[in-house]
Amino acid sequence: MTWQSGTQFKRLYIKYSQVLFPSRCLLCGGRLLFQNEKGVELCNHCSGLLVPLTGRRCEKCSLPLISEHRMCMRCRERSYLFKTHYSLFQYRGNIRELLYFYKFRQKYLLASLFSRLLYKTISEMFPHYPLVPVPSRKHLLKNRDRDHLMPVINILKKEYKIGIVNCLQRKGDIPQKELSFEERKKNLYGKISMKKGMRLTHPDILLFDDIFTTGATADECSRILLNNGARNVSVITIAID
Ligand SMILES: [Zn+2]
Ligand SMILES: [Zn+2]
Repeated sequence: MTWQSGTQFKRLYIKYSQVLFPSRCLLCGGRLLFQNEKGVELCNHCSGLLVPLTGRRCEKCSLPLISEHRMCMRCRERSYLFKTHYSLFQYRGNIRELLYFYKFRQKYLLASLFSRLLYKTISEMFPHYPLVPVPSRKHLLKNRDRDHLMPVINILKKEYKIGIVNCLQRKGDIPQKELSFEERKKNLYGKISMKKGMRLTHPDILLFDDIFTTGATADECSRILLNNGARNVSVITIAID
């Protein structure tokens, strides 16, 4: 078989296997004859519904604002160390479901969708900022084969040429659920540190996490980055809870 006919055969095989064994849209369950966007199992209708937040936002938590202030009431009471935080979505509905599939069902093909959406915001709002991933919690890693942020990070690095500085590490693992911002901050103090020998050389850093809850983790990571050469830390997340 020549190289060309081999490739044709492969294409035909993929085409007919998709017809014979159609996958279903993760959100509506509708049959997918052809997956869009690099195998992401979403129909066109459902992926069209994933429209990022727009309009005026609180500059710290990224929730929509109704007042003329730059920050919402809750954030005005907290003194976050990061300069600004931008989240693509609110953590509800379709996005909540997709993040669940991504994190707990290992639907890592969704990484291409998240990376594309993140890249759009990063290139408009934080161009040339090195991206620092928030280190994953150990118990999450134990139950899965890899750090769930890595597939997104790898696409941002390889396809979108974003500089990644994987400099933070986390020790200990205290469940943070149900805790307040202050309690989480207290728990986290001293648990996040710079990896040995790492030093930041760029003044503006963009910290990345999937979900922003109280902002305690982002704040503790910011404290470490600011103590290790960063002048400003901004935060980007996929969703705000
Ligand atoms: Zn669908
Ligand atoms: Zn706020």
